[in-house]
Amino acid sequence: MARILILGGTEDGLHLHVLLERETGVEPLLSLAGRTKAPAHLPTGTRIGGFGGAGGLAEFLAHERITALVDATHPFAKTISANAAIAAEMTGFPFLTLLRLPWEPETGDRWRHIEDEAEAAQLLQSGARVFLALGAQRLGAFSTRPDVSFVVRVVDTPNAPLLPFRHEVIVDRGPFNIDGERNLLSSRGVTAVVARNSGGIGAFAKIEAARALNIPVVMIRRPPAAVGIVVPSAAMARDWVMKQLG
Ligand code: NAP
Repeated sequence: MARILILGGTEDGLHLHVLLERETGVEPLLSLAGRTKAPAHLPTGTRIGGFGGAGGLAEFLAHERITALVDATHPFAKTISANAAIAAEMTGFPFLTLLRLPWEPETGDRWRHIEDEAEAAQLLQSGARVFLALGAQRLGAFSTRPDVSFVVRVVDTPNAPLLPFRHEVIVDRGPFNIDGERNLLSSRGVTAVVARNSGGIGAFAKIEAARALNIPVVMIRRPPAAVGIVVPSAAMARDWVMKQLG
């Protein structure tokens, strides 16, 4: 049985797990960091928690008799992706990155491309009403802007205030659709959206809704692309895995 370790936390990682489960002679093992309190889907063959850096991951690969490693983590999850590349290099295990394509602006989009949350926070106009769906851990930079009114969407109910001044919190998890996102942005009087260029369908609905409502989007660029073999879809990742086994 060929054991394939999928570093997940994304729809793509889950999808690849489903595809590999259907193959004979393949046992996919999905790895999650454990950030979400109750993940929506937890397939059999899921492990949760960090490995203890690149060295720990390399040990895990050897100890668990893994055949190949697929990094299907979120495009902005830089540390685990760097660790995966180092662990693959250290051990010589076959290694693939599954990275969905970034979104591209279309006619009607009002995007401003920037590098990170700190730059986004600086750019916001005083008095703006800003929608943030960046993850609870990535809001620190916005705490410098009490003159801006924030609507923050997170997956889990926060245990403590997300910002040191008044803000609206929406607890919800994707995938989202354009009608729902349009309704959310207009009902909350949102005047700007800050988003990371994650790619994918579910998270794109807010961008489409902003386009439809003529709302500007402050779009955070992706970190530098991964090294090695990169494919944009779970189906292509499955094909790569099967090729390794053939
Ligand atoms: P990160 O900063 O790149 O990773 C921090 C540490 O978390 C890693 O060093 C590793 O710990 C552990 N880790 C991360 N992903 C893991 C995985 N799939 N399996 C086991 N351990 C993992 O990651 P992050 O940005 O906090 O994201 C955490 C997870 O959430 C990722 O799996 C990612 O796919 C998912 N996610 C992230 C975002 C985002 O915006 N960044 C959005 C949606 C989902 P050790 O060093 O101890 O191994």
